[in-house]
Amino acid sequence: MVVPQSAAQLTSWLASGRTLFLTIHLLGVVGFAYIVARRMVPLFRAEHDFRFDQPWTRLGKVLQFWLGQWKHPRYRTAGILHIFIFTGFIVLALRAFTVLMVGVSDNFVMPGLSGKAGSVYDIITDYAATIVFLCMAIAVIRRLVFKPARYAVPARYGTSHTADAIFLLSLIAILMVADSLFAAAKAAGQAQSGQPVEMLAVLSLPWMLQKALVSVPFPTLGTFYSGAYLVHEVTFYFLLCYRPFGIQFHVESSLFNIYFAKLDREILKPVRWGVGDEHLDQVKSFGAKTFENFTWKHMLDFYSCADCGRCSDNCPANAVGRPLSPRFITIKARDYAFQHYPVFGRAHDGVALVGSKERGGIYSEDEVWSCTTCGACEEECPLLVEYIDKIVDLRRGLVDEGNVPQSLQKPLKALESRGNPYGKMEKKKADWVNAKEFQQTCHVKTLDHSNGADTLYFVDSITSYDDRMQAIGRATAKILAHVGENFGILGAAERDSGHEVRRFGEETLFMALRDHNVDAIKASGVQRIVTADPHAYNALKHDYKDIPPVEHISQVIAREVKTGKIKFNPLENKDSVYTYHDPCYLGRHNQIYDDPRNVLDAIPSLKRVEMSRTRDRSFCCGGGGLMLFYEPKEDQRMGVKRVQMAAEAGADVIVTACPFCMTNIEDAIKVAGMEGKMTAIDLTELVDQQIARECPDLKKEQATEIKECVMASPN
Ligand code: SF4
Ligand code: SF4
Repeated sequence: MVVPQSAAQLTSWLASGRTLFLTIHLLGVVGFAYIVARRMVPLFRAEHDFRFDQPWTRLGKVLQFWLGQWKHPRYRTAGILHIFIFTGFIVLALRAFTVLMVGVSDNFVMPGLSGKAGSVYDIITDYAATIVFLCMAIAVIRRLVFKPARYAVPARYGTSHTADAIFLLSLIAILMVADSLFAAAKAAGQAQSGQPVEMLAVLSLPWMLQKALVSVPFPTLGTFYSGAYLVHEVTFYFLLCYRPFGIQFHVESSLFNIYFAKLDREILKPVRWGVGDEHLDQVKSFGAKTFENFTWKHMLDFYSCADCGRCSDNCPANAVGRPLSPRFITIKARDYAFQHYPVFGRAHDGVALVGSKERGGIYSEDEVWSCTTCGACEEECPLLVEYIDKIVDLRRGLVDEGNVPQSLQKPLKALESRGNPYGKMEKKKADWVNAKEFQQTCHVKTLDHSNGADTLYFVDSITSYDDRMQAIGRATAKILAHVGENFGILGAAERDSGHEVRRFGEETLFMALRDHNVDAIKASGVQRIVTADPHAYNALKHDYKDIPPVEHISQVIAREVKTGKIKFNPLENKDSVYTYHDPCYLGRHNQIYDDPRNVLDAIPSLKRVEMSRTRDRSFCCGGGGLMLFYEPKEDQRMGVKRVQMAAEAGADVIVTACPFCMTNIEDAIKVAGMEGKMTAIDLTELVDQQIARECPDLKKEQATEIKECVMASPN
């Protein structure tokens, strides 16, 4: 008796092995192709998306984020586990193909894997199968025993996904065992029949199974051999066809999702791809009102989510109990797609996405308005699933139907009529420069035809009109004057940058604000723009076109610290501990993390600590997306949570570099009852306070009283 080289040679079935396995192959492949084709139907009905440019950059993303699993280690245990499983799958891909082929072809050998190369590959795959099996066991134990909180499904989002996850993990484990048993039974049979024995990797799963089968009678080995092969075949194709029905579809779709990922994430999606601003009046409907209004790439996102919960784990809205969890933005849309575009049966489309469940809606209005567009979800997602564009598109749809929250109607009207959300008069825009003490130290000119400058200080609404934030404007102006910048402001000619308006979904109003500002900036003749407001910075940098380059003031300060133009006096209170809060639109959206920190570290005697959530994991203060005017349902304020994080880090001063953050953090200190224990200060205020000033017009010996030195504007 000899062991057949290929499963194709098995004869003890109702049909021959070859016929049976060929039938299973054909059914599996055709079934998979049909299911995937049906899954693609909504993508063909979706809106356009422009994702076919820059193939090399896109391939680089695939290498980094898909093959390189770049983001997975951000969660160490789960990340390492996933890397092992993913690597195991990649290694086993050829083996799986070879195993499938031996069911229909005698002595099939993968080209290039005969002889020694094949033996080495077999050893590697034995270990790969073992590692994947162990990882499945660990993953099941994690799910059942340790139950990481981010996998939980809150009652309002449905029932637990654990059973489905365990089922899929078990199927993969069965696949690994079947593969190993097939190899083990073959090797054991070869040994018993005196044939040359195929080597199995020591201590691998196939090796251990072979040891266990040593004394099993030859006919039973034959049953194991053929049975293991059949189980492998059936499990493989069942998994293949089952995956497109749930989260495991990401195994197939994630590669494409990463290839087509957004390359310029900081730029908001246009209302319609391929429709320029000048033709927007021809667009009948704005935003995503029905599922088909999402773009095909956004639908691919829905299919690619692995349900890992990282996005929601980092979402500040979710953390404070707002009715928003980005993971379920995706899961609900995917469930909608599966339900409305079934694999078997007719598609029924066109249902409103936002609204009551009874009328088919899957999102509530509160859910859509709860997002601060902070970007934490996108930063975290290992599969580069996008959220901000989708949420803004949902808002555009609501705004288009006149569905605007009550508290936001007034600021929007004011923006339309006065160019700022407070409804204040345009001529009062530059009133912040009139503070008496400030006027004695710094002259800020308003740019017009006769009054030019190299640099425009773009102030934006909150710093211009909010009494507390005006201090940031004055500090910024003094810093610019100190470094010898020839600068001015637009004054009444400046309108709100429109940053929040755009993220709120009011595209037409944003365009009006933008066009007005672009004209004013061009007319001023400046060469560059500086702002101390990260929201204005983001708008000018990414939402505006054809204007001079823009910098955030923290970049200017960091540069001038390096050149030596800015020097600091030591802090008077050496006991204070400072921490820096990264504003979302400076950090995550524009990667400005180091400049503010370098500035702080240049101040003598300043002790600085980092909060647990810092840099690209910074926790939003709650100020983005017109949130200053919207009162969402929540258990706790984001700012309060952030202040608590600062206290936990041992800090008693929070430095930020954004007037929105300042508003929220100062409020939060009061709400948290931490007045007197915690303070907040803007980077510009701290810098202005600590700058070592020398008056150029005074003799050195006269310039000892630095604080009283009157700053003369360069103009
Ligand atoms: S952008 Fe921020 S607030 Fe909005 S869903 Fe993502 S993490 Fe949550
Ligand atoms: S969107 Fe990304 S981070 Fe969120 S659950 Fe899905 S895969 Fe995980």
